[in-house]
Amino acid sequence: MGEKIVIYVAGNPDGYPLEYYDPAAECYQGVIPQLLRKFSAGSDYEVLYYSPDGGDQREHLAQNLQVDLLSGYREGEVLPDHREEVVIFSTVYEGQRQNYCLCLTQAAPPELKGDLEAFFQAVPQEEISGILMEQSASQPRDLTGFYLTIGGLALGAALLACALILAVRRYRKRLRNAERMVKTDEVTGLGNYDYLLHQYQKRINAHNRVLYSLVYFYVDLDSLRRSGGNGEADQFLNYCGRLLENCTAGADILARVSDRGFVLLKYSSNEDTLQEELRPLFEQVHGYSQTYGKSFEVNLSAGVCQLKQEDQNLKDLIFSAAQGAREAWRNKEDLVLCTSQMRQKLAEERNLQNSLDGALAQHEFELYLQFYVDAHNFQIMGGEALSRWKHPQKGVLSPDVFIPMLERTGVIYKLDYYCLEESCRFLDELMEKGIDRFFVSCNFSRDTFAAEDFVRRCKQIIEPHRFPRELLIFELTESVSEKHAAQIRQNMLALKDYGVRIALDDFGEGFSSFHDLQQYPVDGLKLDKGLVTSISTKPGMAILRAMVQVGHELGLTILAEGVESEEQVKALQAIYCDVIQGFRFHRPIPAQVAQEMILHRMSR
Ligand code: C2E
Ligand code: CA
Ligand code: CA
Repeated sequence: MGEKIVIYVAGNPDGYPLEYYDPAAECYQGVIPQLLRKFSAGSDYEVLYYSPDGGDQREHLAQNLQVDLLSGYREGEVLPDHREEVVIFSTVYEGQRQNYCLCLTQAAPPELKGDLEAFFQAVPQEEISGILMEQSASQPRDLTGFYLTIGGLALGAALLACALILAVRRYRKRLRNAERMVKTDEVTGLGNYDYLLHQYQKRINAHNRVLYSLVYFYVDLDSLRRSGGNGEADQFLNYCGRLLENCTAGADILARVSDRGFVLLKYSSNEDTLQEELRPLFEQVHGYSQTYGKSFEVNLSAGVCQLKQEDQNLKDLIFSAAQGAREAWRNKEDLVLCTSQMRQKLAEERNLQNSLDGALAQHEFELYLQFYVDAHNFQIMGGEALSRWKHPQKGVLSPDVFIPMLERTGVIYKLDYYCLEESCRFLDELMEKGIDRFFVSCNFSRDTFAAEDFVRRCKQIIEPHRFPRELLIFELTESVSEKHAAQIRQNMLALKDYGVRIALDDFGEGFSSFHDLQQYPVDGLKLDKGLVTSISTKPGMAILRAMVQVGHELGLTILAEGVESEEQVKALQAIYCDVIQGFRFHRPIPAQVAQEMILHRMSR
């Protein structure tokens, strides 16, 4: 059988025991749902109940053409514009025959009526009686308007059936409870990602998708944990959870989907109304520290994506809204609406990200090298390993395009380790050809460098190679952020112990400081291109001179990067800079070409 045709049905939540909403099980129960499940199992249709936990929404859903079927009506009870009815079974009430129907809305596919009629005509009356007995065996209920007598039931058989059914029910309930535990976030008690996915699949469909917006709320837990510890972080998460619950109405779905993220699927397609609805929430978050006497600031940032008809993949939607939320966080705003262009760009990034593993396996990344020269005699001493992505469709991509994206999406470590491996191979090849003085420096993202298993993984890569370890230099971008400082320091010490060298990259780019140098056991400094450019000014020259002097006093090798002019070279020589890298001497070139040049210039 091919793909099933999905049919949405709006049920009667109060039609016990024929059809009713069971809040504990979060679904519809009763004779009609059971029969419809049987119909689904034996046909090309998949009949799903719509929006189960609201009230009776049948009229509204039918008018908006969000469902194909309306259920739980007696024949003739429905408004005239709700077209055709299919009688599904009859009951006898105080001697009167009563027909129960499904009504087809204009959204229903044309063949559905005939298929339903054929199915229901073939269901034996005894089967309906059996299901009804099963329903009546559950906890007593008020049978408003639905007292039924269906002939032909022997009492003994009914009691036996009841006992069996009760046992099955208890088992199902246990299963449901177990399932609920698995779908709950422990800190906030809200649903988790599995819960969200389940609800999304159950409740959002082709008919109502465009009426929803997905809001991703990002909590900056790093700074919160630093200032308040895990206890404060959990308290704030709980606080957010409760505020978000207050923003969650009937048809909305709320979940905590990750350590730092909540998702609210809001039944709202109007951006202005949505922003208005969320305003009090942000106000309460802004007042959190003051209201609760906390000594630190907290924040919550949101990204909003309006669902489009083609938006079916929940993960893609969350990804886009989460990027919006991060953008809001970076700009210190409450909320960012993800525009179509933004989402288009993100989709492209996501494609790139998804193709990363394949690209690494296919060796689409090529190692380039840019030489470092001695600042006094301009002889080649070593080079920096730089990546280029030879994308089969997009051509050669420069690191500016893919590095920030790989960093944002947390997969940069894959490229960093790949590049390290390639650099080791390059050094071994040089060794085999008799060159044992050329060094290679490799870039590592801060997140890669800060990982607990960083040193172990690097050793695993380096171990099989034979080049002397001091020929390998690890470049780490200096950063104002204190994030993971202790782990980075520990990793640096272990790596130095192992014999490789470490340089601080882009030194002087931000508010970098000699404070970093005291903290980290580095061997060299790479002065940022911006500093080198300012060497033509008097204060620029003074700053650089002082930096080189302090660096030398600390026993560090000083390298200047981005050197483009003769004037810069002269000035750098005057202040005793050790090594130069820049277009003035060499541009990045493919590793193979670099190897030939090295062999030509460095062999004796
Ligand atoms: P970076 O580490 O600061 O590398 C130096 C960048 O400056 C390189 O750009 C290089 O081509 C460029 N450059 C060198 N000399 C000059 C010059 O005289 N003038 C100008 N205008 N530019 C110069 P590229 O190759 O585009 O790399 C950009 C950044 O991407 C690198 O900055 C590095 O942070 C990152 N990157 C490249 N490959 C990798 C990698 O495999 N892993 C990681 N984590 N980062 C990488
Ligand atoms: Ca670098
Ligand atoms: Ca740099």
